[in-house]
Amino acid sequence: MGSTGSIGKQALEVIANHSAHFSVEVLTAQSNAELLIAQSIEFQPNAVVIADITKYAQVKEALDPLNIKVFGGADSLAQVVEMDSIDVVLTALVGFAGLKPTVNAILAKKQIALANKETLVVAGEYVTKLARENGVNLYPVDSEHSAIFQCLAGEWHNPIEKIILTASGGPFRGRKKEELTQITKAQALKHPNWTMGAKITIDSATLMNKGLEVIEAKWLFDLKPEQIETIVHPQSIVHSLVQFTDGSMKAQMGLPDMKLPIQYALGYPQRLESDFPRFDFAQFGTLTFEKADTDTFRCLSLAYDAMNVGGTMPCAMNAANEIAVSLFLNDEIKFLQIAELVESIMEHHNCIQQPELQDYFDTDAWARETALQRIRG
Ligand code: NAD
Ligand code: MG
Repeated sequence: MGSTGSIGKQALEVIANHSAHFSVEVLTAQSNAELLIAQSIEFQPNAVVIADITKYAQVKEALDPLNIKVFGGADSLAQVVEMDSIDVVLTALVGFAGLKPTVNAILAKKQIALANKETLVVAGEYVTKLARENGVNLYPVDSEHSAIFQCLAGEWHNPIEKIILTASGGPFRGRKKEELTQITKAQALKHPNWTMGAKITIDSATLMNKGLEVIEAKWLFDLKPEQIETIVHPQSIVHSLVQFTDGSMKAQMGLPDMKLPIQYALGYPQRLESDFPRFDFAQFGTLTFEKADTDTFRCLSLAYDAMNVGGTMPCAMNAANEIAVSLFLNDEIKFLQIAELVESIMEHHNCIQQPELQDYFDTDAWARETALQRIRG
């Protein structure tokens, strides 16, 4: 899901490099019909979904002669994951839109390679319980969570004391609030170490991405909030660490390349070969670590607040953030207003402590509408 995005394209590279292990059954995209068609010609899936219905005819016309089934619309996205021939669903679409197809894939007992962190932020309790009930594993694709998962191999019975998620700090590391008032979209879209989709790149600049990852880690590894720490590590070589109850720490390291965690999630428990460039200690010399500045980058502490409140609060926070990021990318709000908008929606949210699935959809809709109203009137 999301084959035309940053993770999706890299996943297809991994698949192409390991054609003895993997083949593509389904590809889905929001609206990039041209790329979806090109990918389908190369990978010959059984079916494709284009969520944007206005692009349906174009995709259908191109792929019909190749005997590839073509579906359109968001509902098809949620249905197509149930196909018998699928073993693993890679959730590489962005935002809340990932929740419904992921839930359906779990109900259909498909293993999940999870890139779409928003699904666990929004409804981590519901989704992890559903996965357990259906015997489904959630293999992390996010590099930090893949690092933790790799550190835990062979340690399943050893309790975790804490985990430490590393953060690059983003393009504005070291700056203070007053230096961030006039940040432009172009500046925020320039990440120092990773090339990613626009939404996660802005989340990395505000440190909301790390906040989302803290909540993602809570659910993936069944941790208490106080067991999850973050540390800024600008070189992005140490991808995260686990500390055990004897005080020993394990870290997973390597050059930043998302193909590695994608490949580990798809190939688990096997480590498949790769020719990615290798890290060279002599060349790097120093790896540095520093505390995150949560006064300047408020989103990280807002995410901790949302996690501590629990219930539908992280869902409201996530929706407000999705709207805030899109308004920022649309030049409707300034960089620092992203955190302000998220905070104001959290303050006004009537949190439901024991939500049903529908409560997440209602909360998401309420938070989006309220956030938009607040800015556009
Ligand atoms: P992206 O914007 O590059 O790609 C998103 C993909 O999802 C595209 O194929 C798009 O067509 C599809 N999509 C978007 N909205 C959709 C919708 N409403 N319905 C259906 N399909 C939709 O994003 P990305 O950077 O590849 O990130 C994807 C997910 O992976 C995000 O949740 C992100 O947080 C996570 N992630 C990304 C990276 C990275 O390096 N890019 C790293 C870790 C985690
Ligand atoms: Mg990450």
